[in-house]
Amino acid sequence: MTAYQIAVLPGDGIGPDVTKEAVKVLEALKQQDATFNIEFREFEWGSEYYLKHGHIMPSNGLEQLREFDAILFGAVGDKRVPDEVTIWELIMPIRKNFQQYVNMRPIRRLAGIESPLKNDQPIDFMVFRENAEGEYSNIGGRLYQQQSQEMAIQNTVITKQGVERIAKYAFEYAKKNNKSKVTSATKSNAIIHSMKLWDEVVEAVAKDYGDIELESNFIDALAAYFVMRPESFEVVIASNLFGDILTDLGAALVGGLGVSPSGNINPEGEFPSMFEAIHGSAPDIAGKGIANPIAQIWSAALMLDHLGRTDLSTAIVEAIEQVLQEGKVLTPDLGGNSTTQQVGSAIAEKLKQLVTK
Ligand code: NAD
Ligand code: MN
Repeated sequence: MTAYQIAVLPGDGIGPDVTKEAVKVLEALKQQDATFNIEFREFEWGSEYYLKHGHIMPSNGLEQLREFDAILFGAVGDKRVPDEVTIWELIMPIRKNFQQYVNMRPIRRLAGIESPLKNDQPIDFMVFRENAEGEYSNIGGRLYQQQSQEMAIQNTVITKQGVERIAKYAFEYAKKNNKSKVTSATKSNAIIHSMKLWDEVVEAVAKDYGDIELESNFIDALAAYFVMRPESFEVVIASNLFGDILTDLGAALVGGLGVSPSGNINPEGEFPSMFEAIHGSAPDIAGKGIANPIAQIWSAALMLDHLGRTDLSTAIVEAIEQVLQEGKVLTPDLGGNSTTQQVGSAIAEKLKQLVTK
């Protein structure tokens, strides 16, 4: 049986700690299930690498990654290196060159997690963030630097094709999963060029899915609705920036950044997809061994689902939920006093009970 080939980029700060636990869980699965084989190759590309070599990945870095079935990414960000290097010379080239135009971010309250909201309804929806264009463009510039009239221009790029493909992906997902509504985040009342095109294309795509309702909300109101009626959402689509912000808000509703996963998907499968927790390198807790690895372990589960092993993906989430419900091995962000490693090991042990040899 051929093994899935996974490129592992642990990155900076808490990235390596949480990624190690995700790999531990995948290794545990490999031991249990004779039909599952997986191999890892680690790449030390990140801020340390940049400080040593003057670039954050080798010039043929993307070619090296291209050969893999998927990428497991920690997080990057280090005070000694400008964020524009870590983001624009590592994460963005991977997302953009590998056409990972769908950023899937489940907002789901797992069993055993308390929401900060009084309302105890289940929260379970999927956010699809446009991941290849939008507000995260490097088009623009600075003028009149150091002068009183100094200004900056930052352009947003919204293309018909770009909106169409993310909208279609979201509606297809809704159809496949028997969802009745897709919510679109917009701001076409004020951002009258790019967001109007966004609305028009989303509405046109929605026409092909007559049974699925399209709800369109302005992003500011939608942020409020996330808090006021999170149980009402099923599938949400948003531009790059709006989706980024909405999903950190969504994460806060379901246990925080320590338990919120994501996948950067290339739907055509021409390039590897990349899986990572939605959080960053968390410099405030880096090196302390207390980062919650659940977001990254769940991201690894999304990776298995993407690779076609939905059964094992489901087993990982089940193991996470059992550990959460027992409440004995939790990191401080969830009110416990366990370490990153202890949580990873507890989940790996649970999996061994769920997936028997
Ligand atoms: P962050 O997500 O790193 O941290 C925000 C807060 O959440 C911090 O208080 C942190 O301690 C907490 N937190 C995050 N992950 C946690 C976990 N697993 N367990 C427990 N607590 C956790 O965001 P930030 O502080 O705004 O950014 C730090 C650095 O990360 C910056 O350099 C930023 O550019 C970078 N960043 C990188 C990515 C990425 O690699 N994809 C994403 C976001 C931010
Ligand atoms: Mn973010």
